[in-house]
Amino acid sequence: MTPYESLQQRSREVAGFNSMASLLGWDQETYMPPKAGAYRAEQMGQLAGLTHRLSTAPEVGDWIKSCEDHLPPCADEEETAVRAANVREWRRDYDRATRLPGRLVEELARTTSLSREAWMEARRESNFAGFAPWLEKILALVREQAEAWGYNTCAYDGLLEGYEPGARVAELNPVFADLQKALTPLLPRLQKITGVVDPARLEGNYPIAGQQALNWRVAAAMGFDFEAGRIDTTVHPFCTEMGPRDCRLTTRYHEADFTSSLFGVMHEAGHGLYTQGLPVEHFGTPLGTFLSLGIHESQSRLWENQVGRSPEFWRHWYPIVREQFPALDGLPLEEFWLLVNRVKPSHIRVEADEATYNLHIVLRYEIEQRLVSGDLAVADLPEAWNARFEELFQIPVPDDARGCLQDTHWSLGLIGYFPTYTLGTLNAAQLFAAALRQVPGLEADLQQANYAPLLRWLQDNIHRHGRRYSPGELIQRATGEPLRATYFLDYLKAKYGLT
Ligand code: ZN
Repeated sequence: MTPYESLQQRSREVAGFNSMASLLGWDQETYMPPKAGAYRAEQMGQLAGLTHRLSTAPEVGDWIKSCEDHLPPCADEEETAVRAANVREWRRDYDRATRLPGRLVEELARTTSLSREAWMEARRESNFAGFAPWLEKILALVREQAEAWGYNTCAYDGLLEGYEPGARVAELNPVFADLQKALTPLLPRLQKITGVVDPARLEGNYPIAGQQALNWRVAAAMGFDFEAGRIDTTVHPFCTEMGPRDCRLTTRYHEADFTSSLFGVMHEAGHGLYTQGLPVEHFGTPLGTFLSLGIHESQSRLWENQVGRSPEFWRHWYPIVREQFPALDGLPLEEFWLLVNRVKPSHIRVEADEATYNLHIVLRYEIEQRLVSGDLAVADLPEAWNARFEELFQIPVPDDARGCLQDTHWSLGLIGYFPTYTLGTLNAAQLFAAALRQVPGLEADLQQANYAPLLRWLQDNIHRHGRRYSPGELIQRATGEPLRATYFLDYLKAKYGLT
């Protein structure tokens, strides 16, 4: 075997074990009996150890080096480009996995599992002091992580790279600043427009069987392949890939509100369509793997928001939904649409609407950078959080549980992750605008609930490339320009009839 073939084989082997771990993880969240938890953790640990050994073995480094020194040319230009991209991505993964000393990996695993417990208790009691020493420890460890991985300008870049390859603070900061500056004056106007209907109008009884039937129908209309995927019920919705042609989505149901499971399914099915659109022939290699969190999240948000919260979508689906749920009798389409697009400042990020959501991310992104650089001391976090929150949202923070203790990310050592949510939002708006420009008749197709042309465009421009380009390059290629906040802001204004 040539070094390239050896890398291909090892990469597929590791992907095979990773997909088995996904299956175990999915089962754990869906059907596993509660007493099986301890042994399941052991199984997951065994698989993680195995894949780590296989992917960081010295021979892998030798194969990569030899491909870098001399990659045998192929007759086919496309195949040559594919190989070069795979080798580049293997190098990236190998360096990131091998640069962390084993001691640091173990210390992070141990600290985060304990700090998660401490965080849960601190949040329950709204007692920041209970979590503060853990956050200190985690910050010290992630700073060490960033040093080991390396960076050019600031340690935060080293962390960001793990979630969004190629993203840099110096480029994100102006985009986030533009977004925040424009959103702040816009929000009171959106709040006024959407606040005219009483949310209680949507309360009613929506039997779960009816919700499931509707969700399945919408996901199928989007193009989700049920012969290569499923939807199950869990406490926390997610989408997971278990190998080619096997993608699992989950959602949760509330009998009093069908919209939360429907938008949840549209969101997860958006992730699922990306997964189903990855090239099967490259499965197990970088070219058959999703690119970044910000790109993944752009696919889910595009289907959930640009498609699912549009007036066109509901003009088609509302009559169908009303037939399913008599609870909606007497609620006109226009009022229903305002209710599912209601903008209102709130404390909890995961419950926020699509407009204010991004201010929650701006806040976290600013604070994370200051914590990592040491500019903000952990002890001063609640005060800094509350002051900035009030500036951004014009409402005070009642307690730390609804303030700086609300998210699990920091307790798990996930620092540098938050900005990818807003990158997803901005990517989604810019990609959707490009699709509307590039696909003839797309608007009419969407009005008729014909989503195939939109899906084809996403497959061609995003899904089929896997990790061939960086996220920045991919957005540039698909939309003709680098990422900007304008498209999302224009989308919001157009949606609510503002200029
Ligand atoms: Zn998502």
